[in-house]
Order: sequence, then C-alpha cells, then structure tokens
Amino acid sequence: MFEREENNFIPGIFNYCDRWCERCPLTARCSVYAMVEDEQQAEEYAGGARTATQEAFWRNLQNIFTETKEMLREAAAERGIDIDQLDLKEASEIIERQRCSVEQQNLMKLAEKYTKQAGVFLKTQNLSDETLDHTQLEMLQIIGWYHYFIAAKINRALYAEADYEKDADSDAFRNDGDGSIKIALIAIDRSTIAWKVLLNDETNREIKPLIQLLDTLRRLCEEKFPNARDFLRPGFDEIIEMVM
Ligand code: SF4
Repeated sequence: MFEREENNFIPGIFNYCDRWCERCPLTARCSVYAMVEDEQQAEEYAGGARTATQEAFWRNLQNIFTETKEMLREAAAERGIDIDQLDLKEASEIIERQRCSVEQQNLMKLAEKYTKQAGVFLKTQNLSDETLDHTQLEMLQIIGWYHYFIAAKINRALYAEADYEKDADSDAFRNDGDGSIKIALIAIDRSTIAWKVLLNDETNREIKPLIQLLDTLRRLCEEKFPNARDFLRPGFDEIIEMVM
C-alpha cells in the first residue's frame, strides 16, 4: 500500500498537523500515516515473520533517513560546515544552552503550566460517567488531545526561533517556527471553545483560570510570531485535489 500511493503524498503534511490521525481528512495523502498503517497491518498478519509489506516499510524508512542525512549534509555544506568534522562536545553545549534559553521563556513556562493544570482537571473526570452527554465527552476529548500538544508545538517553535536568531538568512527555521505556532494556535482556539462549552456554575472556578491561561498563550504566541496565522500548512491550508 505504501509504495502504491506514494505519488499522492503531500510533502511535509505531517509537520504542521495536529497528529489526530483518527480524525484527519488527509490520511490518504500522508506518508507517515501510510508507514504506521503498513507496519500495523504487517504485525497483525505476519505472526512475527517479515512480510513484503514490512520489507517495504523498512525500505521506505531507510530511504527517508538517507535522504534526510543528505539534505542535512548539503545544508551544512552551503554554510561552510563539514558535518563529519563537527565537534560533538561543542554541539552538545550549544544544544544545552538552547534548551535552557527555551525553557526560561515565559511562553514556554505558561504552556507547561497549562499542560499540568488541564491534566489535573482531566484526572478528575470519569469519561465513562453516564451523566456526561455526547457534547461534554467530545469537549473533554478535544481538551485531552491538545493539552500536551500545545506545549510541544510551542517548544518546537522556540527552538526554531533560537536557530533563526543564529542564522538570520535561514527561512527554513523561520517557517518552522511560524508553522508550529500556527498549529499551536489552532489547538489553543479549539481547546478554548471546548472549555467554554463545559463552563457552568459548578465548573466555573476550575475552568475560568484555564481559559485565561489559554488567552495569555494565544496573545504571547501572536506577539512573538506575528506571521504564524498566515502560514500555509501543506495540505490543510491549500486547495488540493483530493485523490481517493
Ligand atoms: S497529516 Fe493527518 S494522517 Fe498524517 S500524521 Fe497528521 S493527522 Fe495523522
């Protein structure tokens, strides 16, 4: 299946999606989805033996790694860097400095705070509670899906920002920051709507601070990445011809 549909894949579609494959309208255009599906099918039917489908999966994965390595090598060479000569100790020190600088930013701290506080609320919810109606369950699922995702995407964007501050000529880093914040903003917007649906006299005290936290995250994201809302995500924000 993976090889048969390869020409339909949209390059990079999985970079700025919300990773909610169960609900994704573009699974047929996504190579990551195809790989995972192929591997699952292979495991189901193989009983441990390596099948042709599994072979195709590993071959494709190997091709992706090889291509990525070559792209990195070429990008580094364009900047006069020979990656075979890189000083690993120096590289790990740079990464550590970057990690500290990302984690100290208010935006990152607030995103992590949201993850924790939303998680505390979710733990008090019993999803098999028969008093919850379909809408409430749906809202809790949305909140649950995105409560880690928002911080993860903000983290990625802040790393990209740190990279393009070092290399102002690199549009790739700037785009990655904008794309990551775009999907984080979508997740923030959807989560905010879901919280508002759950808001009532009983939940008001717990939910209002979470909505305020999301409002602050939205504002900080838009201030720091003013072009993010306009970023066109491959597949999702483009007019494409669906190939069934
Ligand atoms: S693009 Fe769709 S199918 Fe692919 S990883 Fe993202 S959500 Fe899943």
